[in-house]
Amino acid sequence: MTREEHKEIRELIELRVHLLQTLVEENIQSASNTTTEGWPLSPKDPLPSVEQKVIENAQHEILELTQTLIWLDTEHAGLCEQCGNAIELDKLKSAPTNRCCAYCTEQNSLETIGKS
Ligand SMILES: [Zn+2]
Repeated sequence: MTREEHKEIRELIELRVHLLQTLVEENIQSASNTTTEGWPLSPKDPLPSVEQKVIENAQHEILELTQTLIWLDTEHAGLCEQCGNAIELDKLKSAPTNRCCAYCTEQNSLETIGKS
């Protein structure tokens, strides 16, 4: 991974974290709002747990992204955790929390299909 690629992925992750934090804040506000006005989902099923779920998912992703930022500063940055080969840059850009190269991801999914 070049210095430019490293920077690009880091910025991508930081932007994503920022967006998720905004999403969490919006949902916390929305959850504390007692009216269902402007409810984006099904109005006949106004479950507060939907917002709770969104918040939980977002917070989970923030955690993963934060760990990825730490990973980017290690000597293993950009390397597949299974085979040690460089992870494709396009793959890292589309899914920065992915720690496997395309080959290993395919092998893993084949294995999962085989097991089920
Ligand atoms: Zn691999």
